[in-house]
Amino acid sequence: MKAKKDFKIEIMAVGSELLTPYFQDTNSLFLTERLNDLGMEVSYKTIVGDDWDDLALCIKQALSRAHIIIAMGGLGPTKDDRTREAFATVLERKLIFNKELLQRIEERFKRRGLSMPEVNKKQSYVIEGAESLKNRNGTAPGLWLDTGSNKIVLLPGPPHELKPMFEESVMPHLQKHKMDYKARKLLKITGLTESKIETLILDLYPDDPDLRLTTLAHPGQIEIHLSSHSIKSQEQADKRLQKLEKDILERLKENVFSTTGEELEEVVGNLLRQNKKTLAVAESCTGGLIGNRLTDVPGSSDYFLQGVVAYSNQAKINALGVSPELIEKHGAVSAQVAEAMSQGIREKAHSSLGIGVTGIAGPAGGTREKPVGLVYIALAWDKGLESIKNIFLGNRDKIKYQSSQKALDMVRRHLIKYEKKKTGMK
Ligand code: AMP
Ligand code: MG
Repeated sequence: MKAKKDFKIEIMAVGSELLTPYFQDTNSLFLTERLNDLGMEVSYKTIVGDDWDDLALCIKQALSRAHIIIAMGGLGPTKDDRTREAFATVLERKLIFNKELLQRIEERFKRRGLSMPEVNKKQSYVIEGAESLKNRNGTAPGLWLDTGSNKIVLLPGPPHELKPMFEESVMPHLQKHKMDYKARKLLKITGLTESKIETLILDLYPDDPDLRLTTLAHPGQIEIHLSSHSIKSQEQADKRLQKLEKDILERLKENVFSTTGEELEEVVGNLLRQNKKTLAVAESCTGGLIGNRLTDVPGSSDYFLQGVVAYSNQAKINALGVSPELIEKHGAVSAQVAEAMSQGIREKAHSSLGIGVTGIAGPAGGTREKPVGLVYIALAWDKGLESIKNIFLGNRDKIKYQSSQKALDMVRRHLIKYEKKKTGMK
């Protein structure tokens, strides 16, 4: 194998839809990530439509400049799917009929009680010298071809077909040429600003060129991406990363809500389930976003009981039992009303925990005392009540999202405390 810098990889996305404003080539992101895991870097990415001449030209270019070419899309049964034929033509290789492949495609149709349309027959042709790759989730087989000067991979376009095929049939081929061992970790943090995190971990930034720490800020969430590599072994790459991860976790403590990729709503859901607690939410300015995020998690019916969007004052009174006098006295956007909402929904839903959110998402409606971005969030439980005044910055979407994030995080922190008390930890 050539040295890393002389070794070129090209990803080619084929499909006219990828040149419209409506579809994006997302497959190449997945492929790049997996290639990077092998220490391989991508030098070129091409997107080309289904036009024969354009496709043939791109293939010629790729063959002349890249050692590995991964092309995807255009393996389907229709006339505009030409990737297989175009590669065969440019490579001046025959397409050879494979009976077994045809039987496999026919069986796939049979299992659905259908007979195979004639057009699918072309999917049972393989480029001379190539290995056909099994497609567990569709009819289009993939293809691996080593010509001596190029390694060529053809994959189906639909991501749910491409991903398992790449993992199962292409990774084993590429692993033989692994150049580097990589380890990666993503820490998700909420409740601290980016600059606060920076001051807490500043001295942990690695000098070691084999270790990398990057911080990314999103509304209501900061991510720390850690990566390491080793030319020796996976163990060495893992070890390098684990030490850094441990040091960061010691500094940031429970502000890190996920080290394994989960979203905050999943973490909260797991904590509710583990603690056998249920939750109901009363939302004003978030308009159902908290309920939506909670119910995005499969199995959330185990712990999520009810969500009420109480936007108007009357709705807060009718649906949640908030007293009109309280609203009159403190205003709808106040700690008192958020607290009454959280208690109201908790009682109505008979849940262990209740959340109440009321605020001004803007852009209009702010005053000097109550500016846009002012959001009160309250959490009620059997023995108490807590409310937090927040001032979020950004547009309406960002204010709503940060409010939902904060509300979920209040539940998370409450449950962590509850769990610690229960197990007698400090
Ligand atoms: P094809 O293999 O050309 O029949 O592709 C079928 C479908 O796969 C297309 O309609 C797209 O929705 C999807 N697809 C194709 N290429 C890509 C790509 N590079 N990234 C994401 N989706 C893709
Ligand atoms: Mg296509």
